[in-house]
Amino acid sequence: MIFELINEEQANWSDESLLDALENLLKAFAEQQHIVIARPSLLNKIANNKYFSQKVKNMAKCAGQTVRELKPLIQSDYVSTYIRIDLSSENKFETVEENQKTVLVSGFAFFKNSSATQSTNILGEDLNDVKFYIYIGNFYIKNNSILDKFALKHSCCHGGGSQTANIYNNILAENKFCYCIVDSDKKHPNSPRGETCKAFLKNADDDVKDLFFEKFGQVRILDAHEVESIIPFNVLTEIIVNGNSSRDLILTIKRLQRMIEKDSNIRIYLDHKKGLNREDAYKLDDMYRKKKKFKGYYSTELNKLIEQNNKCFEHIEQVYHQCDDNCFRFAPMGSKLLSKTLKNFENNNYTKGDIDKITLPYWEMIGKDIFSWCCCYKVPMKVS
Ligand SMILES: [Zn+2]
Repeated sequence: MIFELINEEQANWSDESLLDALENLLKAFAEQQHIVIARPSLLNKIANNKYFSQKVKNMAKCAGQTVRELKPLIQSDYVSTYIRIDLSSENKFETVEENQKTVLVSGFAFFKNSSATQSTNILGEDLNDVKFYIYIGNFYIKNNSILDKFALKHSCCHGGGSQTANIYNNILAENKFCYCIVDSDKKHPNSPRGETCKAFLKNADDDVKDLFFEKFGQVRILDAHEVESIIPFNVLTEIIVNGNSSRDLILTIKRLQRMIEKDSNIRIYLDHKKGLNREDAYKLDDMYRKKKKFKGYYSTELNKLIEQNNKCFEHIEQVYHQCDDNCFRFAPMGSKLLSKTLKNFENNNYTKGDIDKITLPYWEMIGKDIFSWCCCYKVPMKVS
């Protein structure tokens, strides 16, 4: 996380809790847990203040040399959120939207204990989900060469679905930072969100939001059925095709491929683990149809498999073949899909060009969030 320190002129420099907060923040910066951005005049005040040890004074001097490089980061598009600490105020807290970023404006009192400057917790429903999101965070750094002096510092935790919201609240109650992603479990673009996700919503208005902030935590609700929906299609193909898979699964990949070529976003709501057949897809359309005349989401999407004369792309040449439900089926990919994906990531070096255009916006959004919450400056500080 990035901390921007402001209003040192109005601060009460004889307040020890202010000085302790400054010491904790500088230590977190020097230990590469977080990033501190402060004006040279503030850092000089620390470097010349007898309250601080020589080591802390040296940290302030070193921090002074990084300001020019780090300051542009909070003005850039590479971060989605950061914390601004108002040194003239003890307990204030507000969230401000500024330049398409969420700035968490806080007083200094929260930081007088070192527990508040530990690395950010990344929370997901399952440990593999968290590993997947952290991979996306590192991918974001790797694919934006301007970020090559930064790295991620984080702790992982998971909630096993039902406990995720409770764990989130506990982490915040312990004065720690938390970034949490839950998937919506939506099987259809118009269907309601699942229970895990609803546990986070405190009032009905929240149901339309896909992110919200609460003190030093952020919850991002993934507008996709599940994390498997945002496995890049290339990677999915490689896992299925090279994985000794059934004919059904290979056909499923071919169908998805054909639909993606026609700009279908079907994977976003498709239950990859359990699969989907046409009959059930139409039932979902009936359940969640918004207007009577509207053909329905799946009906529209599945029609993208038809080339002409009611023939699907696989049977276009077979004049006497009658296409049926079997031509519009997506076979289940099983519950190990995500762990196979993580294994695949270990053995490959993907770049932005490998990510399909349906998945990429999700990766950009999550990558930016994870970077914002967990970034640290890799260049070591010589403080002694
Ligand atoms: Zn067919």
